[in-house]
Amino acid sequence: MNIKHALILIFSLSLIACAQASAAAARKYTTEPFYFSGLNVASGKPYTIWGNGFKANDKIKLTPTEKNNAGEIILNGEVARDRLKIIIPEGFQSGRYQVELIRNNKTRHLGFTQLNKVDALPATPKVTAHRGYWNTAGSAQNSITALRKAQELGVFASEFDVWLTADGKLVIHHDAKTINGISIQNSTYDEVKGFVLENGEPIPTLEAFLEQAKAKPEMTLAVEIKTHKTKEKNNAVVAATVKAINKAGLMNQVMFLAFNLDICKELTRIQPGCKVAYLNGDKPPRELHELGITGANYGFKAIRSNPHWIKEAHDLGMTINVRTLNTMANVIEMANLGVDYISSDCPAQAQQIVEHFQGK
Ligand code: MG
Repeated sequence: MNIKHALILIFSLSLIACAQASAAAARKYTTEPFYFSGLNVASGKPYTIWGNGFKANDKIKLTPTEKNNAGEIILNGEVARDRLKIIIPEGFQSGRYQVELIRNNKTRHLGFTQLNKVDALPATPKVTAHRGYWNTAGSAQNSITALRKAQELGVFASEFDVWLTADGKLVIHHDAKTINGISIQNSTYDEVKGFVLENGEPIPTLEAFLEQAKAKPEMTLAVEIKTHKTKEKNNAVVAATVKAINKAGLMNQVMFLAFNLDICKELTRIQPGCKVAYLNGDKPPRELHELGITGANYGFKAIRSNPHWIKEAHDLGMTINVRTLNTMANVIEMANLGVDYISSDCPAQAQQIVEHFQGK
């Protein structure tokens, strides 16, 4: 198998993985209520059972599976569209509970959940759609459609990746080469522009992305500047990107991201006060702070190994994003820790967990 075929295979597998996650979620929506286990909960705040077909007067019974002084609890449900909410009562105790739905005096077993009682829920994490909302019909990674669908979904931010062509045009793509083997930084825009994405769109320009971004000013753009081959090229892509965003009048809507520390430093040099997060996962927040970098956007393992970095960042007025969380167990673990942002390829599901932390 050559590299091109390997890349196509990896890309296809990632599509299948997320498609299965969505299909499973859709099945659960229509046939079974579902809920998230492992969440932190607080007295007076809701815990949501998702699904369709709930009725007024439905109740939820929670029975501890281990000895628990509180015993079983029966709570009135509040039905709203696609969910039934219960309010966590005073005196609720952490533990594993059997969940049952009571309707017309009949009890139906739903499953089990682990709930961890805390005095107050941590600050709400916000969801970034990683490469846009691409895991949905008609969309594709880093496409204008993925940006538009992220806007429609109502997530906090949509992420995309920026490359500079050899003749100075900014285009949006994840990999250094297109699937048909064209190196973006070594090619002219004329050579790159014929590449077509999975959903039939041509490879987009930054300019077109910024135009679409204007449709929803309250959604943040997470602009990842890719690492190019030389320091000169890195400085050139930073300068061109900053210029384009300023020209579009969107600097306040933007949060920059980069794996390359020099790119982060160059951003803070030419656009003082801009938001920029370092991606490489190998530096404590205080070291980034000294360089004027405003956030860390790290992988799950880096934050799980260094949970103290969250408080360190917050004490310095910085933000912590964790990426790329595609299992909801990982989203829950990081949300419970109180990170500021999470990035996901499954933003619709992640957004449901965020709503829990928003008390919705
Ligand atoms: Mg990226």
